[in-house]
Amino acid sequence: MKRIALFSTFLTILLASCGSLTTTKQKIKLYVFDCGNIDVSDISVFSPGHDKGQKKTLKNTCYLIDHPKGKLIWDTGLPDGLISKKNGLTNGVFHLTVKKTLEEQLRDVNVDPKTIDYIALSHFHFDHSGNTNLFENSRLLIQKEEFDAIYSKDAKKYHFDPQSYSKLSKENAIVLDGRYQVFGDDLVTIIKTVGHTPGHQSLMLRLEDEGNVVLSGDLYHFEKNRKHKRVPSFNYDKKTTKESMRQVDELLKKENATLWIQHDPVQYTKFKFSPKYYQ
Ligand SMILES: [Zn+2]
Repeated sequence: MKRIALFSTFLTILLASCGSLTTTKQKIKLYVFDCGNIDVSDISVFSPGHDKGQKKTLKNTCYLIDHPKGKLIWDTGLPDGLISKKNGLTNGVFHLTVKKTLEEQLRDVNVDPKTIDYIALSHFHFDHSGNTNLFENSRLLIQKEEFDAIYSKDAKKYHFDPQSYSKLSKENAIVLDGRYQVFGDDLVTIIKTVGHTPGHQSLMLRLEDEGNVVLSGDLYHFEKNRKHKRVPSFNYDKKTTKESMRQVDELLKKENATLWIQHDPVQYTKFKFSPKYYQ
């Protein structure tokens, strides 16, 4: 009898400790923000030789990842300053508008941009780097090739605008070479997906309810281009872009992950936007 009682006490302790393990399991929250609209008057720039003269409205999304160990902002969108231009701004084939600033969307969920631990951009094109200077206190997570390009005297040649990230601390940056687990576990992982720019990167998230998600950056701009594996005319390197597309396909399969295309207008209609969040 005594032995049975002892055994059952042991079992109770074991089950209780298992229970506490489950409740302390790390979880992340993912907020999606609307970071502007991009009307394109000729989408063949994204698919050379196809869709000449066709129009499309691309969306622009930014993300906040809230991990128990800190916060990461992923992409910063079109400049908030555009909100003052009622009719938007035309830049070549692109017409840009902002309806609500990123700063305001962050404040709506009680987040002060100055308190965000990390900033990572998929790449430094103007529609992803527009509000980077809001995050001057955050540590930059960046692939070495992108770091060298944004701080080179030829930054503009890569279509980067040094003014848009002038307040970032270069000295404080964490310069990466490939995969990087932002919070030291496998919940938030930066993946190197070069080609669109010299050091383009994507972000893999393990969400408890939503499952595994990969944020595309500009690996693709919309679903049709993904389907046909088309490489925009302004990409830095076509061959490495194709290789990154192949690697991400493999990753999505291996991890049973969904690719969220940050500019895709159809996916946009299904997103749950902040203050709601995914977890
Ligand atoms: Zn881009």
